[in-house]
Amino acid sequence: MKIQAVRGMKDLLPPEDRIWRHIERAARELFACFGFDELCPPILEHTGLFTRGVGENTDIVEKEMYTFNDRGGESLTMRPEATAGVLRAYIENKLHAAPGPHKFFTVGPMFRYERPQKGRLRQFHQINCELLDDPGPHSDAEVMIMISQFMEKLGLNNVSLLLNSLGCRVCRPAYREKLLAFLIPRQNSLCPDCQRRLTVNPLRVLDCKIQSCREVTEEAPSLMEAICPECRAHFSRTGSLLALAGVDFRLQPRLVRGLDYYQRTTFEVIGGDLGAQNALAGGGRYDGLIARLGGPDQPGLGFAIGLERLALLLPPLPESGPDLMVAALGEAAYERLFPLVMTMRRNKRQVDMPAPGKSLKSLLRRADRLGTGFVAIVGDHELAEEKIIIKNLQTGVQKTIGLQALLSWQLLETTD
Ligand code: AMP
Repeated sequence: MKIQAVRGMKDLLPPEDRIWRHIERAARELFACFGFDELCPPILEHTGLFTRGVGENTDIVEKEMYTFNDRGGESLTMRPEATAGVLRAYIENKLHAAPGPHKFFTVGPMFRYERPQKGRLRQFHQINCELLDDPGPHSDAEVMIMISQFMEKLGLNNVSLLLNSLGCRVCRPAYREKLLAFLIPRQNSLCPDCQRRLTVNPLRVLDCKIQSCREVTEEAPSLMEAICPECRAHFSRTGSLLALAGVDFRLQPRLVRGLDYYQRTTFEVIGGDLGAQNALAGGGRYDGLIARLGGPDQPGLGFAIGLERLALLLPPLPESGPDLMVAALGEAAYERLFPLVMTMRRNKRQVDMPAPGKSLKSLLRRADRLGTGFVAIVGDHELAEEKIIIKNLQTGVQKTIGLQALLSWQLLETTD
């Protein structure tokens, strides 16, 4: 058997890893400005957390989870999304007891058994935020403003924010009935998945990507017209706060996200030319979910950004190899330079120092591959004279300096 990576799971290789760190750094910096702290729940959780927290009738729970029995016979699942785990940690560690609102973010891998394609993997990574214990539209607006600033910070200007309201426990049941009354006479024109959705979650039919289903729902009753005055007020205040912050959005009445637990605000950020996989981030309000997981009846909302999709859209970062390669030609030169190089590294200089034994030619080839700016060469002759040759690999100019001066070489670099 040839050993290779599992289908839909990718190696993150250099130099692409630098884009990822760049994205994560940008998120950590910006989210801190909005008062979010990092919370990292484990990747494995009890399966019941997801059936309860994500919803039994969702695609994720029905067909996409990586679930197995551990050696003790317990059913565990590799998290398909982050919210359930964060809320479990929030409840279990009684973080809700402190005065709210509480703001958390988490970064890491998620696992879903989906059909892999460009921008859709079985192990993928999300940056996820939750804002808990605040019912007001200010929080809805705040997280969307934060995402918008995040996209801006990354230089992704060609993105759109889509917004919808799903109503609440008060007004949604009546809308559901109205929608069912519309869909049932037309059910033969719906795809098999949507026919099934009619009994479990008819709102999801609005979100189906299949053309024949889209045609059927074209004339469906409008959710926005059916929501109660409280939901309407919540929606319009969210919109006015977004406008106040200069964040554009578009009402998208079809935006019914895959997870069962959303209420009122749902949103998605789309952009780039990733075809069908153009959703970069999505989220919404899930009042009631914390209680459903055994915690207090506190409201909450959250969103997740897909790291792979952002990485696909961003231009590669400019090459940045080590500052310097130290080419010690022989054991004696290596020993003499070794402590100097260790001091330089302690002083935060990026220094590449291959073990002795390689020819200068092959060392220069390596420097070229790594994008090293300078190479410091010490052969027997230089060693005897306590000298070192420093060559600028870009210009080809070289200088000879005293060995010990290597430590203050930064000066030389700027004057060269
Ligand atoms: P969701 O958790 O389904 O609301 O997705 C939130 C974001 O995660 C999406 O907008 C995508 O950017 C990303 N995402 C979801 N599923 C995948 C996947 N299978 N592969 C890559 N990215 C994904």
